Amino acid sequence: MFDSKSTKAEDFINHEEILKVLAYGEEHRNDHEEVERILKKAESLVGLDRYEVSVLLHACENTENSELREKIFSMARKIKEAIYGRRIVMFAPLYVSNYCINGCKYCGYHCGSGIRRKKLTQEEVAEECRAIEAMGHKRIAMEAGEDPKNCDIDYIIECMKTAYATKNGNGEIRRINVNIAATTVEDYKKLKEAGIGTYVLFQETYHKPTYENLHPSGPKSDYDYHTTAHDRAMQGGIDDVGIGVLYGLYEYKYEVIGTMLHVKHLEDTFGIGPHTISIPRIKWAEGVDLSLFPNIVTDEQFKTIIAVLRLAVPYTGMIISTREECGFRDEIISLGISQTSGGSCTGVGGYAKRLAEGSCDSSHDDQSTAQFKVSDERSEAEVSKALLKNGYIPSFCTACYRAGRTGDRFMQLAKTGNISNCCLPNAMLTLAEYALDYGDDEFRQLTFDVIKTERENIKEEKVKTKFDEYLERIKAGERDFRF
Ligand code: SAM
Repeated sequence: MFDSKSTKAEDFINHEEILKVLAYGEEHRNDHEEVERILKKAESLVGLDRYEVSVLLHACENTENSELREKIFSMARKIKEAIYGRRIVMFAPLYVSNYCINGCKYCGYHCGSGIRRKKLTQEEVAEECRAIEAMGHKRIAMEAGEDPKNCDIDYIIECMKTAYATKNGNGEIRRINVNIAATTVEDYKKLKEAGIGTYVLFQETYHKPTYENLHPSGPKSDYDYHTTAHDRAMQGGIDDVGIGVLYGLYEYKYEVIGTMLHVKHLEDTFGIGPHTISIPRIKWAEGVDLSLFPNIVTDEQFKTIIAVLRLAVPYTGMIISTREECGFRDEIISLGISQTSGGSCTGVGGYAKRLAEGSCDSSHDDQSTAQFKVSDERSEAEVSKALLKNGYIPSFCTACYRAGRTGDRFMQLAKTGNISNCCLPNAMLTLAEYALDYGDDEFRQLTFDVIKTERENIKEEKVKTKFDEYLERIKAGERDFRF
């Protein structure tokens, strides 16, 4: 039986191995034939190995090779379209506490930072949830700093219970993903029992010396404990885990290969890779001087990262957040993103405050408790409407986790092409709910236009018939149907 205690980070994140893989990519950066072979392999949706990923990353870096780069991007768009269609899953982060005892040098929460510390009471959690529900969200990512005294696991569990129990008209939180610090198998078991969706933890950087330099104090300074957290989460029964690098901390190609090794480790050990990969980039935060970070990733490099990962792990969800500017977000979504946040607030207690002030975007958010500054300040309604106008289907679906389709059961669904009979109708049903409960006339028009077209992409006739029935019942006021 797998024992997370005996697993060490160096067993799967091996520095020498990463350097070897990077050297291979460097050597083949101008090898057109090899790139063509890799693209052909990617087209068959079987994913890529780390050496192939390295070749593509290096080929994309070659400025004389813009044609090749465009080919890689268009393959990423094709794969995204083939697997995810036009759906894009929406969520909002909910920050419950910014108390933190870590010294992470890039984060506004770090223990020496001058931010105002705040932890929500359960009544405040309920207020935040009502405000998030009033924006139409059904899925949240619960976030907190690390502080065993002020914010222990029982507090997080209590917040989850409050969030699931809080309703606002037709609004309800149907899925809670949790992004909290690395913890014990026992704590992960508690999160599982409380109904966690995905456990998300970012590695920040796979490069150990950089990790140790940027995390000088606090429990998070233990690279090994942090890197093996997903193993413990899996051992605690959570089979949907999310990983991610904070791009800008170290050289991006090293980080992508580190990600590939992490994916491989989870696949080899548990038979299932991560459910999602988040792709955050470092942003300005209180007390953080960005000029001290020499590895800031450019927009072009960021596009490469997303496109190459899309080819490498076609069935793994990829997440971007409001850290990215609105126009750019629309561009990178087409390269492979399957989930995005909208209308986000990175402060503690900010949603209820916004609602009280009659605002629904983040342009006037109080920054005194914020973790970092968002770039896309639009409201959730504006984000979703822009997506609709660009031909996407904003999805508020939370069905898989609630129907027990987690871990390999979800992958089975995705790999057998059943997304068109399951995720697509669910996306449209939840979008219809959203349009009727929160949309203006234009939003409703756009929604029912897109549904008319996309309905034809449901493969099975019996699903189409059931879909029509559910849609009529939603129009009549019923809610929460799913396939
Ligand atoms: N305390 C948990 C932990 O240790 O992982 C949760 C961390 S925090 C709420 C979520 C993520 O925000 C971090 O993992 C980090 O990658 C990201 N983050 C921190 N500072 C940031 C910054 N200045 N810009 C962008 N993202 C940042």
